[in-house]
Amino acid sequence: MEIKFTKTTCPKEKPVDESKLGFGRIFTDHMFMMDYSAELGWHDARIVPFAPIPIHPASTVLHYGTEIFEGLKAYRTADGEIRMFRPIENIRRMNNSAERLCLPEIPEDDAMQILDAIVECEKDWVPHSEGTSLYLRPFMYGNEPHLGVHAVKEATYVVICSPVGAYYAEGINPVKIAIESEDVRAVKGGTGYAKCGGNYAASLRAGEKAEKKGFTQVLWLDGVHRKYIEEVGSMNVMFKINGEIVTPELTGSVLPGITRKSCVELLKAKGYKVSERLISIDELYEAAKNGTLEEAWGTGTAAVVSPIGWLSYKDEEFVVNGGKIGEVTQALYDELTGIQWGKLEDKNGWCHKVC
Ligand SMILES: *Cc1c(COP(=O)(O)O)cnc(C)c1O
Repeated sequence: MEIKFTKTTCPKEKPVDESKLGFGRIFTDHMFMMDYSAELGWHDARIVPFAPIPIHPASTVLHYGTEIFEGLKAYRTADGEIRMFRPIENIRRMNNSAERLCLPEIPEDDAMQILDAIVECEKDWVPHSEGTSLYLRPFMYGNEPHLGVHAVKEATYVVICSPVGAYYAEGINPVKIAIESEDVRAVKGGTGYAKCGGNYAASLRAGEKAEKKGFTQVLWLDGVHRKYIEEVGSMNVMFKINGEIVTPELTGSVLPGITRKSCVELLKAKGYKVSERLISIDELYEAAKNGTLEEAWGTGTAAVVSPIGWLSYKDEEFVVNGGKIGEVTQALYDELTGIQWGKLEDKNGWCHKVC
């Protein structure tokens, strides 16, 4: 695939104080774009100066939510290499999301070439400090200029890049999670397994409500029985119960996280018993009460691993591991981030070198 390159004529100043990067507020000089039409397929692949995108007021995405996205990071290692973590997994997941929303898929080789090209182009934007990275946000939207409801015949794919700070600038602090008993995020047969903007739109109300009560995120229960644990906000969730690691199985309404998958693989290699199965709120509640709920944590690209110190369900609150980070949670965080930043050997070949 040929990618046309238009260099910016007014490069921005790169952030000097990398301790203030935050998440997703600063964007680099360039972005990748290409368009799709039923006649031409994907075409006009280009890297252009970062700028607002003009959009037709009748564009499908503005009315019917035909949008999917991905999130992954490029890391600078100690010896100056720039690498991405398991990008092929993001590409495959994006194509699965595209299939669900009737958006066009992108051939894997092309999608990888695009990620390599934009990261190489913006390599000087990959921050240097411990714990920082360049967050990549690929997204695709239906972009047909009329209001009929049907599968789109025109779409646009974009990749933007944002230097992001260390997630745990003040050390890893366990979070407080509210188990949501009214709203649901997704149902089997719906779009729960697709990474689409609409899932987030449906989740915001519960998130706001939890935040007002002093919780960081919401833990979702399944949409049919309101009984089985699904995931936390933008993370998958894992528990250590009586020595066994338990994570909800991928039933169709849970997002198949790449961090989740990596954690399962690492834990199995270490000899832990890992079960991907249904886990009910009653089982969790019982384990918390009788002291066998030893650890709880969320997994996702942004935080990697996020310990859960408190869980609340309806009017009850329980503490996990005395509100402190557990042994397995800490070991997983150290191992995954060690591999990502090139401090530990990448035995599984998960890191993809860009330059
Ligand atoms: C992206 C996402 C995750 C985490 O997936 P990773 O691939 O580990 O970053 C979990 N849940 C939801 C709802 C997500 O959108």
